[in-house]
Amino acid sequence: MNRIDPKLAATLRQPADLVERGLAKVADLADLERVAARYAIAVTPDIAGLIDTENPDDPIARQFIPNALELVNEPGERADPIGDDAHSPVAGIVHRYPDRVLFKLVHVCAVYCRFCFRREMVGPGKATALSDTAYRDALDYIRRHTEIWEVILTGGDPLMLSPRRLAEIMVDLAAIDHIKIIRIHTRVPVAAPSRINGEMVGALRVAGATSWVAVHANHPRELTAAARAACAQLTDAGIPLVSQSVLLRGVNDHASALEDLMRAFVECRIKPYYLHHGDLAPGTAHLRTTLERGQELMRALRGRVSGLCQPDYVLDIPGGAGKSPVGPGYLLPQNSVAGQRDAQDGREAQDETRYRVTDYCGEVHLYPPEP
Ligand code: SF4
Repeated sequence: MNRIDPKLAATLRQPADLVERGLAKVADLADLERVAARYAIAVTPDIAGLIDTENPDDPIARQFIPNALELVNEPGERADPIGDDAHSPVAGIVHRYPDRVLFKLVHVCAVYCRFCFRREMVGPGKATALSDTAYRDALDYIRRHTEIWEVILTGGDPLMLSPRRLAEIMVDLAAIDHIKIIRIHTRVPVAAPSRINGEMVGALRVAGATSWVAVHANHPRELTAAARAACAQLTDAGIPLVSQSVLLRGVNDHASALEDLMRAFVECRIKPYYLHHGDLAPGTAHLRTTLERGQELMRALRGRVSGLCQPDYVLDIPGGAGKSPVGPGYLLPQNSVAGQRDAQDGREAQDETRYRVTDYCGEVHLYPPEP
């Protein structure tokens, strides 16, 4: 079912290849082999070309070049950090919210992100795609559940499928009356932009359902001219784009990088959608920030860029309870102390009639104002 693009053949997959290309140090080779034995590695030529080998803290390298710290598991980290398995009624389907499902078609990606929340499930060592029987069972599940309005193709990366196979899947889904939206989550426009061609765009458009594409990028340098051209092919074909990014230490955990990233998305006609707090995936503590830092950055972003450039800062609650917005609050009852709760009945002490609202500069105002 899965067809891998021969253009991806030049992808670097072994620590020794990374060393040979100057993307990793020979002194680290033994450690990196140990990481490679556990987690998949893939660095496409497009991504390799973006890495500044002179910069030991390069934000692109931090996302894709393995690190010995991945072998360190912190308390709380887990193989299935967002609880996909707990909500999987049949293979390939995650049904967490009533009106939508994840449909995990493939377990391979163009690149393997070092912070991936599905790192224990993706990679060439895992099953590469759903079997035909599992695919049909998953489709039957979607057909039977008439409350499902949106199907989110994810994985792995669905754009690793051949356009021919992807088109068949899109047609199968669009033929189900209650499926109105098919959303495709992908890193391909950034990691392997040449895969976005007329055939792929044609596969994504289907009669009977509206396609949306969520483009994953974390640093403004990922939106190269080639990536922008790939995104433009999608938007020119009438496919709306949204972004998803992960807040990552040493990659985008400062206001200017986030600002530039969100501006770049909007310039590419990609509406900023999600900024994910790093999930508790094994061996990723060195890439996570704190929630406090995330809120501080969201406040800074609010002061720097328009609403068009604002993503939702979200946390996937470990165990599978779903996403919650965790950005800073701007409205508080006048007499409340943030976070303070009445120990007796759990209700926040508050003035029912007046609020404190914080503006984009951090100044606090009363609403309604004092007469
Ligand atoms: S592209 Fe997505 S699924 Fe694949 S490794 Fe990166 S974060 Fe994980």
